[in-house]
Amino acid sequence: MKILVLNAGSSSQKSSLYNIEGNILPQQHPEPIWEASIDWTASNDFGTLKVKANNTKQEIKLDPNQRVEGISKVLETLTQGETQVIDQLSEIDVVGHRVVHGGSDYCEATRITSEVKAEIERLITLAPNHNPAHLEGIEAIERVLADVPQVAVFDTAFHSKMPRSSAVYPIPYEWFEQGIRRYGFHGTSHKYCAQRAAQLLDKPLESLQLITCHLGNGCSLAAIRDGISVDTTMGFTPLEGLMMGTRSGSIDPAILIYLMRNQGFNAEQLDQLLNKESGIKGITGKSSDMRYVLEQIEKGDDRAKLAFEMFIHHLKTSIGSMLGNITRLDALVFSAGIGEHSAPVREAACAGFEFLGLKIDVEKDAKSPIDTDIATEDSQVKVFVIHTEEDWAIASECWQMMH
Ligand code: ADP
Repeated sequence: MKILVLNAGSSSQKSSLYNIEGNILPQQHPEPIWEASIDWTASNDFGTLKVKANNTKQEIKLDPNQRVEGISKVLETLTQGETQVIDQLSEIDVVGHRVVHGGSDYCEATRITSEVKAEIERLITLAPNHNPAHLEGIEAIERVLADVPQVAVFDTAFHSKMPRSSAVYPIPYEWFEQGIRRYGFHGTSHKYCAQRAAQLLDKPLESLQLITCHLGNGCSLAAIRDGISVDTTMGFTPLEGLMMGTRSGSIDPAILIYLMRNQGFNAEQLDQLLNKESGIKGITGKSSDMRYVLEQIEKGDDRAKLAFEMFIHHLKTSIGSMLGNITRLDALVFSAGIGEHSAPVREAACAGFEFLGLKIDVEKDAKSPIDTDIATEDSQVKVFVIHTEEDWAIASECWQMMH
């Protein structure tokens, strides 16, 4: 079965093609036979399409005013040139889309119909940077592959069984009824990491209690009890919770009221401040990148040191708050750019949790071994570094839906 995955963001678009032979879904993720990514941010004059297949790499410039054509270009590279892996697009059996926001109604992967599209469109107010890009992708596929089933895999779905006590905000209940609630995000990644941790532990996920830490440009934690996400740090939007690359995470909401009353901030300015100019970027004043922070600390930069200490402070206090919803911790899981590659972040995040019986092996940690336990032999809590495979998780959902 050939499964195309489209993972569209506001400024990037990643795609992969998986070829799954036979009738059994592989336990471990196979490599995609073709991968493509478009980056719209590197230059104002053009977008860059990078394609990898058949052991070759190709780079193509795209017109930034023709984003929808960009997707057609991506699809062309599947059937033409050095990166050709299929003869015609009709060989694709199913297309899976990562959709950031599925609202309250979608608690699992869903076949895309006109109603589902209408709901993704309705939710644009809640995910203005992402849901329009998802619709662009869905419609581009409809134009060239009208009869091929398309599946939406929602970032919010894994958190949809969260108890009301986690989901409802302590504001007048009517707002909950109007959709202002904790939805949680990065669900596909948290679910994949939890399932992979269960595989590594050789135990059913339903028997485990885990905390998964997705630490990329966006950062979130999930508390997973018996296979269900019972709490997560992101909320109504991906702005809540941990300190992130450019997002502030949770701050006293009265700061917003103050800025509006006394500094004349409007909604757009607050949005820009909290989503784009805060977090690591806001503190260093230069970069949102954890690698930059670690390099600058070596050079004695005090702001970089502060950014690191704050990142760890918020990470640890949030791990603490996730503990409130589980009764035991079988494993702490680190994933995504920072979680997978930054040994100092993992070491500092674990320091102080020895009272839980959690002991990190600093030498193992330093090697950032993927899909491996980096706790000491006698640690009562496993600490996994897991390479998140969101695209494969989406492909697996599609495969399951087609069987
Ligand atoms: P996104 O959330 O956009 O998918 P990623 O998961 O790729 O982002 O994570 C990006 C973050 O990972 C950046 O802060 C980057 O600095 C960090 N990162 C990537 N590699 C390393 C590394 N070797 N050491 C520390 N941080 C890293």
